[in-house]
Amino acid sequence: MKDLLHLPFLGALLRGRWFWRVTRLLALAVTLLVIVSGWHHHLIPGVATPDPLMYTSFATFGLWVLWIMGLVLLALVAGRFWCAVCPFGWLNGLLSRYGFNRPLPGWLGGMLPITLLLIALQISVYLLAIHRYPDYTARLLVLLFVALIISSVVFRKRAFCQIFCPAGAILKCYARVAPFELRVRDSEVCAGCSSVQCVSEQSFWQRYAFGPAVLHLQRQRPGCPVDIHPHQIDDNSDCTLCMNCVENCCNDNLRLGFRPWLAELSHAVLGRGEAFLLLVLTGMVTANFSKVNVPLREMLFAAPKKAAILLGWQADGYFLLSALWITLLLPLLLALPGMILYRLRFMKVTTVIGPDEPGQVSVKHSLFAGLSDLLLPTIPLLLASHLILAVVKLNAKLGYLPLALSDLSGVKSYLAVHLMGTLPQPGVLVSIDLLKWLVIVLLVIGYLLAIWAVKKVASGRDGKKFYFWGTLINISLLAGLYLDTVIRWLFLR
Ligand code: SF4
Ligand code: SF4
Ligand code: SF4
Repeated sequence: MKDLLHLPFLGALLRGRWFWRVTRLLALAVTLLVIVSGWHHHLIPGVATPDPLMYTSFATFGLWVLWIMGLVLLALVAGRFWCAVCPFGWLNGLLSRYGFNRPLPGWLGGMLPITLLLIALQISVYLLAIHRYPDYTARLLVLLFVALIISSVVFRKRAFCQIFCPAGAILKCYARVAPFELRVRDSEVCAGCSSVQCVSEQSFWQRYAFGPAVLHLQRQRPGCPVDIHPHQIDDNSDCTLCMNCVENCCNDNLRLGFRPWLAELSHAVLGRGEAFLLLVLTGMVTANFSKVNVPLREMLFAAPKKAAILLGWQADGYFLLSALWITLLLPLLLALPGMILYRLRFMKVTTVIGPDEPGQVSVKHSLFAGLSDLLLPTIPLLLASHLILAVVKLNAKLGYLPLALSDLSGVKSYLAVHLMGTLPQPGVLVSIDLLKWLVIVLLVIGYLLAIWAVKKVASGRDGKKFYFWGTLINISLLAGLYLDTVIRWLFLR
């Protein structure tokens, strides 16, 4: 399984240009179906439920349950594999060939816009509940298509992925622990390869002859959309698995396959942008856990509640403050004890003999540089916690899939299930008694893997002891909150 490209049948399929084209076209067709099926549907006239179509509509169910939750499961096993079939990334690559090809300014590519977009998405979930309404979901996708066209026309290569896709940014983090990679098979072969055909864009002519009629078409061989060379890849974060280099390599020197979990975590370096995104994601996952843990929810949301009362803001103001609180301040507060301990490594006690005052001691590391180090080993725990949310959601709601497929708008299915009772309400796939053990096992594995990651990463860091205890406090605090939730929610019901 280390090299799927050389397995019989599957290998031929994965190398086939048409296989990827057809898969991406199918993904595009499904995305368009989500838009069409959700476009005019918000409520059901005469039905008092505020969000009747949330699970029966193909648009809301497809995007917010099936895709978002399924993506976490896929990321656990195959990292950024979704990017290989993603219609947005594919169209971005195709359209940008015919645009102005402007280079992306550095400030746009540093993950800040994506993270701000993730925060905006959280605000819109709290304020408008876009995940509950098919028409809002459809409009969100249309907005993304507009952003896709504009970014493709203006900028070169995959600018949309870099500016507008929080999903890709989250997959980028999770791909660091996933047991799946694209690498060269033999670096010696690359060292002796002068063509570097794998990533170089090249125009060529194709000749089509129909009897006496001959048609010449100019084609372009696409290069690497993220400007990396397969020979230099040593972490999974940037490669979008577009498979261009696999198709282009003249020496059949690429490998796509499995590796041990967490293989690259010990030497990985988290950029500031990624650290900021992880921080926001931590806040969002923690807030999601608190939904089913009343004491934790009361505690976590006490600050925005009080602030809204002090400011005299109503529900919308409270939701806005809550979204900003859980995405920005709460995760910073959670990381603070670990941060303080880690920064103690800079503390030096020096005795100066004599009347002269000692000079200023400058600390070169910024707060965010330390934060990047601190957050790196939390990825396994965050992935496990995210996975728990996905498994629980899919277990509870996957039964709606036949309803969403049989009636794309979801109106008839809702009426049949909830008003007329002609169809049974979909139940859970696995009983809670069984699920709770799976959940606890996932959490424990995530925590243990995070501790293992702490030990691995600490061995290459300055101030090893401070780093170890700082990160341990950080992951233990998060794991404690999640464990408390799981026990109250699933074991003490
Ligand atoms: S980064 Fe986002 S838009 Fe780009 S290919 Fe991946 S999922 Fe698709
Ligand atoms: S991946 Fe293939 S084309 Fe690229 S440098 Fe290596 S051998 Fe050459
Ligand atoms: S390294 Fe290869 S698969 Fe990865 S993004 Fe570049 S061309 Fe695509």
